[in-house]
Amino acid sequence: MEPEIETAAQKLRGAGAVVALTGAGISVESGIPPFRGKGGLWETIDPMEFAHIDRFLEDPGKVWEVLIKGMKETLDPARPNAGHLSLARLEAMGKLQTIITQNVDGLHQAAGSTDVIEFHGNFAWQRCTKCGWRVETARVDLSVLPPRCSCGGVLRPECVFYGEMIPSHHLVRSQSLSASCDLMMVIGTSAEVQPAATMPVIAKHNGATVIEINPESTQLTLHVSDIFIRGGAGEVLSAVVDRLEELL
Ligand code: NAD
Repeated sequence: MEPEIETAAQKLRGAGAVVALTGAGISVESGIPPFRGKGGLWETIDPMEFAHIDRFLEDPGKVWEVLIKGMKETLDPARPNAGHLSLARLEAMGKLQTIITQNVDGLHQAAGSTDVIEFHGNFAWQRCTKCGWRVETARVDLSVLPPRCSCGGVLRPECVFYGEMIPSHHLVRSQSLSASCDLMMVIGTSAEVQPAATMPVIAKHNGATVIEINPESTQLTLHVSDIFIRGGAGEVLSAVVDRLEELL
C-alpha cells in the first residue's frame, strides 16, 4: 500500500469534522470529461465563448447547440463510480459531514450522499428565463434549439454560468464549513475556478489538514495540501476508505 493512503486513513480516523470539496475529476470515471486537464472540454471549446451568461443571453441557440446539448447527452446516462460510492460510504461510517461539489451532474446524491452543497447549481433541471417554470432536463425535447417553455421563454439549466453569482446560501455555508472542519479532502479539482478554489485555503488557514487526490498536481499541491495522493479518484478513495474501515 502507498504510504500516503495509510497516512490519509490515519488522519481520517483521528479527525472530527470532515468535509470534501469535489470537482469534475471525480466524475471522469463515470464518462463525463472535465473542463481542464487531459482530455478536457476546454481544449476544444472556449469557455468565455460558450459558458458565459452574456454569450447565452446574446445567442442561447448557439450555446445550447455547442455546449448544453452535449452536456445533456453525456450527463443523462452517467452513473456514480467508485469515487462517489466511496464518499457515500464514508458518510455512512460517520466520517464525512458534507460534500461541497462544483459538479452539476447529481452523481453524489445518486451514490447515496445526503448532505451535498451544489456550489454551481445542478443540471438536472431547466428553468424558463421568462416565467420561471421548471422542467427536468431529461424531459426536454432537443429537436428545436434553443428549447422553449410554452410561454415562449428560452430554457436554461439551473447551473451557474461564468459571470453569474454563486447562490449566497451555498457560499456562506461552504465558507463556514471550510473554516470549522478538521480535515478537508480535495478531490478532482484543478482549483482554478473561484470562489470554490478558496475553500481549501480557508480550511488550511484555520488549521485543518488538507488531503488532495488528483492524477495531476495543481496550484494547491505545493503550498496548501498536507498530503497529495496522485491518482484517479475511484481507485484512491476506495483504497483509503477500505483501510479506514480496517482501522475503525
Ligand atoms: P476542472 O475541469 O477544472 O479540473 C478537473 C481536474 O480533475 C483536473 O485537475 C484533473 O487533473 C482532475 N482529474 C482528471 N481525471 C481525474 C480522476 N480520474 N480522478 C481525480 N481527478 C481527476 O474541474 P473543476 O476544478 O471542477 O472546475 C471546472 C468547473 O467545471 C466546475 O465549476 C464544474 O461546475 C464544471 N464541470 C462539471 C462537470 C460535472 O458536473 N461532472 C464536468 C465538467 C465541468
